[in-house]
Amino acid sequence: MAAMYAVYHGPVGLKQIAERIRGMTQVLAEGIQKGDAGDVQGSGLFFDTLTIRVKDREALLKKAEEQGINFRKHSTENTVGITLDETVTEADVNDLLRLFGCNQMASEIAQAMNGPKPLPEAFQRSGKVLQQPVFNTYGSETELLRYMHHLQSKDLSLTHSMIPLGSCTMKLNATSEMLALSKPEFMNLHPFVPKDQAQGYAELISELEKDLSEITGFDAVSLQPNSGAQGEYAGLRVIRAYLDAQGQGHRDVCLIPVSAHGTNPASAAMCGLRVVPVKCDKDGNLDMSDLASKAEKHKDSLAAFMVTYPSTFGVFEPRVKEACEIIHKNGGQVYMDGANMNAQIGLCSPGEIGADVCHLNLHKTFCIPHGGGGPGVGPIGVKAHLQPYLMEHPIVSTGVGEKGVPPVAAAPWGSAGILPISWSYIKMMGANGLTHATKIALLSANYMAKRLAEHYKILYTNEHGMVAHEFILDVRGFKASAGIEAVDIAKRLQDYGFHAPTMSWPVANTLMIEPTESESLAELDRYCDALIAIREEIAEIERDEQPRDSNLLKNSPHTQRDLLVGEWKDRSYSRERAAYPLPWLQEKKFWPSVGRLDDAYGDLNLFCTCDPVAAEEEGERPYGGVGV
Ligand SMILES: *Cc1c(COP(=O)(O)O)cnc(C)c1O
Repeated sequence: MAAMYAVYHGPVGLKQIAERIRGMTQVLAEGIQKGDAGDVQGSGLFFDTLTIRVKDREALLKKAEEQGINFRKHSTENTVGITLDETVTEADVNDLLRLFGCNQMASEIAQAMNGPKPLPEAFQRSGKVLQQPVFNTYGSETELLRYMHHLQSKDLSLTHSMIPLGSCTMKLNATSEMLALSKPEFMNLHPFVPKDQAQGYAELISELEKDLSEITGFDAVSLQPNSGAQGEYAGLRVIRAYLDAQGQGHRDVCLIPVSAHGTNPASAAMCGLRVVPVKCDKDGNLDMSDLASKAEKHKDSLAAFMVTYPSTFGVFEPRVKEACEIIHKNGGQVYMDGANMNAQIGLCSPGEIGADVCHLNLHKTFCIPHGGGGPGVGPIGVKAHLQPYLMEHPIVSTGVGEKGVPPVAAAPWGSAGILPISWSYIKMMGANGLTHATKIALLSANYMAKRLAEHYKILYTNEHGMVAHEFILDVRGFKASAGIEAVDIAKRLQDYGFHAPTMSWPVANTLMIEPTESESLAELDRYCDALIAIREEIAEIERDEQPRDSNLLKNSPHTQRDLLVGEWKDRSYSRERAAYPLPWLQEKKFWPSVGRLDDAYGDLNLFCTCDPVAAEEEGERPYGGVGV
């Protein structure tokens, strides 16, 4: 949205918008000075924000509120703040002028001012901004529409096929769940409005907290963190605040299994904890004797243990409860990473297993779309002993109280605007529906794992040969047998119309698949069919029927440009096999728009994509920012 805002308006439009805001703000300041209710503070240099000292703040705020206007209440006595933006109309400014006892209209004031005062030279920007063609081409709605649609057509999304990324899989984002996000009642509320203006949100938030508490088996939930990683950071800080209050503030060791998501050690480090890794055994389970010996060794300084359940290897750790007991016995708290909650809901819960705190990823398990990177919600649930230390907020109290830790996000309830999605999901599914979804998610993963096990090695399973809600395909052996790596399979899947699974995580050169409950049996089968067909393509290389360095996998993905060349002589396979390896693709084909890039080469060999440095030397900075 932010990028398209700049693409559409371009440098000329953005400047116009800024000048209008500045002009409106000047008219408002002039009018307030004419009125008898307040004085604009400061040097007279401002862009869009005024600080005003008023005679009677409470009376003014009350009168304003009756007209549907909120002012910022500064911490300085009798001072309010007003910021205008491009949505402000002349009528809005007139309303404000009347509130401040000015009996002139905005238009009269503007006329008398004869244009806005010029900016002092020191604040004027002389260099050009946004000179690239993209910011100067799509100025009409039709052009912008076509440009955006062109970009969209390069994206393989849920509108095409399943996107089975372990943990980060895109579940269905149901239209009915998303509807509230088009309603101004939800979308146009500022996070700092007086609480009595946000009673609908308050109800939604408290119901969601209650439902999530019940689902996770905890006593309280905070919706403040904006992501899972932020939830980890928040949860560990809550643990530290609690330990501190027990006179145990010196505890600073955090045990983390080697299978953990990278955010776990990063969050621990940010909280000032020392990370001590715990081993996993050959089946992917926690090495219990290593855990016990490290917990014992650090028993005087053990603060926390971070554990993901089911593990990132896609198995339910059989001895997870015992692991929690070991930690508690040695004075530590258990932090559960709940990114894999889709495998637990209704069947078991972090609270019951023995965790003290756990984050959820509402943008994974609870249907908030996360394509393009967010926004997200990473609430934490806690047991009662940690509740007093949850996050407070200095402007709008979250109700936690004085022991609460400082906020981890700007707004008291984080990304509140997208909570209606998760709220609707839970309400529409109900307890039975959610439990059923978990069972289907487990069934789908096991169905795929069983079908694929005849063709690929499944890296980790439990003693019954079962996986949890996700599983890892071990493709490492193909390197020796056919020169094929995980990335080649991932790229070839594009020719079959599919998004790759998670690649090389949590185990290098493997593929991790999480199908979720959202996909139909037919779609699961299509994905399996594609992977099975690719396995046969690999077998052809193994049998020396295809060269190792130039084959269906190594040359994938096949773009139209690649295929529609005059002659096709340097390949050992037909164009049809490249583009339509399975029959359904003739009917429904997603065309990859770019061929293979040089993977790691690009990461290791940075090059500049901005205009030549010469332009910068001449005093024209083509970019506002800095090039590589
Ligand atoms: C996704 C994920 C995280 C981090 O969550 P974000 O919302 O991406 O910050 C942490 N742990 C695991 C296991 C995950 O899958």
